[in-house]
Amino acid sequence: MWKALKQVFVAIPIGLFTTLKNFIRKPVTIAYPKVKPPMYPRYRGLHFLERYEDGTERCVCCGLCAANCPADAIYMEGAETEKGERYAKVYEINEIRCIFCGYCEEACPEEAIFLGKEYEFAADDRDKFIYTKDDLLVPWPRKKPSEVEFKRKTRRPDVY
Ligand code: SF4
Ligand code: SF4
Repeated sequence: MWKALKQVFVAIPIGLFTTLKNFIRKPVTIAYPKVKPPMYPRYRGLHFLERYEDGTERCVCCGLCAANCPADAIYMEGAETEKGERYAKVYEINEIRCIFCGYCEEACPEEAIFLGKEYEFAADDRDKFIYTKDDLLVPWPRKKPSEVEFKRKTRRPDVY
């Protein structure tokens, strides 16, 4: 008898109060993919190849990124412009092999290769994960400011 009354007058109101409290509380989930979660400043996502402010490519095809890549994910072929400047005629990253360690970014002496914040690059074919220079090079004219300064500051906050 007392047990049943306790259920009705104590346990059920406590349960209802908990339900009501969570009903009006701000949700802890987001409506992805309509709402995108903000990535942390040091998040390492899909790569991109940077340009100088005049639009020329920063990459000189030195090969240091590929040499430092523990996953053997980077392939390139070099060439020279008419002015004798070296550039990457072919530059590819296999994003399936990549482990997003960031060593390529760290090794690059030209600040040409970076890991950005893009994480939505699922595909239904393995070949689609091989990103070519056309996919990686930032569009020109730029659609948004260069990320080089921002990346410098997030990599070495003690210096800047
Ligand atoms: S992030 Fe790491 S694994 Fe991926 S391409 Fe760069 S060095 Fe290779
Ligand atoms: S991205 Fe940087 S490290 Fe890699 S080949 Fe180009 S200049 Fe060299």
